This record gives sequence, C-alpha cells and structure tokens, in this order.
Amino acid sequence: MAIKQFLNKYKIALITLGVFSMVGIVVMLFRDIRYFFLFFGIGLLDGTSRALIVHYPGLRQFFRLSLLVLVGGSLFVGICLLIGVNFQFIEVFFDLSAWVVTGALIQLIVARLILPFFAGNAFCSRACWNGIFFEFTNPKKNKKQYKKRSPLLAWGYLIVLVALGLGIGFFAPINPALDQETRMYWLFGENILIMGGGFFLTLSWGSRAYCRTLCPFLTISSLVAPYSLLKITPVASSNCNSCQACNAACPMYIDVMQDVQDRKRVRDPYCILCERCVSSCNKDVLKVAMKLPKE
Ligand code: SF4
Ligand code: SF4
Ligand code: SF4
Repeated sequence: MAIKQFLNKYKIALITLGVFSMVGIVVMLFRDIRYFFLFFGIGLLDGTSRALIVHYPGLRQFFRLSLLVLVGGSLFVGICLLIGVNFQFIEVFFDLSAWVVTGALIQLIVARLILPFFAGNAFCSRACWNGIFFEFTNPKKNKKQYKKRSPLLAWGYLIVLVALGLGIGFFAPINPALDQETRMYWLFGENILIMGGGFFLTLSWGSRAYCRTLCPFLTISSLVAPYSLLKITPVASSNCNSCQACNAACPMYIDVMQDVQDRKRVRDPYCILCERCVSSCNKDVLKVAMKLPKE
C-alpha cells in the first residue's frame, strides 16, 4: 500500500527519470556513454524538481526556474562554450550538408521530436539557455501590444534559416561544421543575435516574445506537442471563478480559462509547460497531469 502511494505521488517525477534514462541509453548506443550520463543527469534534476513541487507547490516557479538556470546554464557553459557545440537551429543544416552529426542535430531530434511526446515543449521552460535570458527580461506584459504567434511568419522564418544553412553549408568556402574556428564565430554571432534581437522583441511585446513569435525550434516541436502525455489539465473545473489570472500569467497568451470551462486539457501547440497558469490559480483548478480526472 505504501509503495502504491509512493508511486502515485511521485509518478511524474519517476516517469521523467525513466524517459530521460531510456533516451540516454538509445543515444549512447549511437554515440558514447557520456550521452547516457548527460540525459540521466537532466532527468534526475527534472525529476527531483517535480518531486519537490509535490511537497512545496507554492515554490513551483522557484524550482522550475532553478532547473532552467541549472540545466540551461550547464548546457551553455559545458557544451556550447567549452566544447564549442552550437545548438542553434542553423547549425543543424551546416551539419547535414557536411554529413556530420553533432549535438545540434541530436538536440533537434531528441528535444524537439522525441521528448515532446512525453512533455510537450517543456525543454523551453526547463532547459533552453536562450529561454533563461528571455524569461527574466521584461516579465511584464502589455496586452495592448499583444503579439501572438503567426504560423505563416514562424514557418517563413524557419524556411529562410534552412535555406541559409544549406546555402552556406554547400556553397561557402568553409562549412562551419568542418572548421572549429568558423564554428565558434557562428556560435557567438548567432547567440548574440538571437539574444539581442529577442531582447528588443521582448521590450516591445513582453516576456518570451521571440519564443512566442519566431523560434524555429518551437515551430518544430509544436507539431508533436499536442500529442504530449503531460499537459496542463483542469482537475477541478467547477472551482473556476473566471478570474482570468491563468490567462494573464501565460507568456504564450494561451486562453487557458476557455479550456478549463470546456473541461479540456490544454492542447495548444505552443504551451511550454511553464506552469505559470497553475501557480497563478488560487482555486487549485490546474495541474500538470497525464489525463483528465474522472468526474
Ligand atoms: S522557444 Fe526557442 S528560444 Fe524560446 S525557450 Fe524555446 S527553444 Fe528556447
Ligand atoms: S486562474 Fe483558476 S479560477 Fe481563475 S480563470 Fe483560471 S482556472 Fe479559473
Ligand atoms: S498554458 Fe500554462 S503552462 Fe502553458 S505556456 Fe501558458 S502558462 Fe505556461
């Protein structure tokens, strides 16, 4: 009985650890054992933060932001700056045109196409180093300058980046994927450009404006995210008093309240599972869960 209660209480934390471990084992088979430890470590940190939230739900955002800073910061310093692996989108196409596989392609496949079946776009709220920067700049939103994602703009931006990446990869004298010095110029240039550009978008359109409007990674993972096992779930819709605090807190401008009133889980493809809507609801209506509770 005690074991059943324990499993029930920490179900999501344990499944998180299990999923990351399995992904680590699969990637290790193609690469080397360091990848197992990388994914196992991220799973352990994510699982621990989810277990702590079970005990201290009032500190939900503190634990999530700590995880984001820890994982995103470690990836930025350890993998990007020290090893020189650029995770930015365009790098994937440098790699493909040179027939090499680096962390950029692995990150795209694992974080944007496989893990979203389990936890949607949670990479954005828990691991992206650009996300750290955008999360903490201009957290106030101005609804008058409301800017929601336009799929046309987002896909147009993605196509331009793909064309640029393949064009440089195939036709430039040096493919950055094959030359460490050129790769480092791209690494710093792209990160400065995205963070700087994102910062100005944020000043105009509020927190995470780049994520909300343009980011190509989110464009890709949004194809899978609606099928995610974990979603924001109304667990007590009848308690909702239509205060709209959840909508006001959402950095992606999702109409969470409408889903609550329709007794539906949040299937919006751009939900980043930041749980700000959960934290903002003082009626305990929302939760991250694997399914709707029985009536
Ligand atoms: S939307 Fe893009 S920039 Fe924003 S957190 Fe997600 S991956 Fe990072
Ligand atoms: S914050 Fe809670 S009570 Fe308020 S509208 Fe959202 S779900 Fe309903
Ligand atoms: S719906 Fe909730 S979890 Fe999803 S992005 Fe909005 S605030 Fe974050």
